[in-house]
Amino acid sequence: MLNFETVAFETSFGFSQQLFASDKPEIVFTGRSNVGKSSLINKLCNKKSMAKVGQTPGKTQTINFYNHPQFRLVDLPGYGYAKRAKSRKDDWGNLMEDYFQSGRDIRLAVALTDIRHEPTADDRMMIDFFVKADIPFVIAATKADKLNKTELASFHKNFPNMNSSRLIAVSALSGLGIDDLKRAIEDACGN
Ligand code: GDP
Repeated sequence: MLNFETVAFETSFGFSQQLFASDKPEIVFTGRSNVGKSSLINKLCNKKSMAKVGQTPGKTQTINFYNHPQFRLVDLPGYGYAKRAKSRKDDWGNLMEDYFQSGRDIRLAVALTDIRHEPTADDRMMIDFFVKADIPFVIAATKADKLNKTELASFHKNFPNMNSSRLIAVSALSGLGIDDLKRAIEDACGN
């Protein structure tokens, strides 16, 4: 298995800067603010605070790159923060456009949703985008430690049309699903 512990923070990209060219496979992470994206990235890489957990939603938005010799993990800005000013929402859209239109070697998208809730309209929009853009994706349903076994066994009902091989229940607290997610990333990188 690839050694995720060698992943290190590389750079943050704001929309005012030129995005660097893609020169290795990229694995992108999307989800609404507070869904647990930073915690999941840290857990994957066995880091305490490589990605900043618990950042105030709506603060300056960036795309964060984490580098591994064979791939990059790309932390896209969180969406769906209700109180965000319109200008901030435009920033979010501009950043996403910059990223997805820059001819990158995107191997896999990891779409994060909160396992306790049905996917939000924004979650669905993000997943639809991956389908339409022909970007392979998995859904990582976060905070799985908050469900009991019975609930956990039926969370896939929130995704009636989704092949179950695409659904991974994960927890940054208990480590549930982390190895499955690593395998999905590894397969996507062709290893
Ligand atoms: P982000 O905004 O998507 O990057 O989310 P964060 O990683 O900052 O997490 C948001 C909040 O959810 C924090 O309070 C985390 O401690 C909590 N959290 C993240 N992952 C988990 C998890 O797997 N289980 C539980 N119980 N809480 C989590």
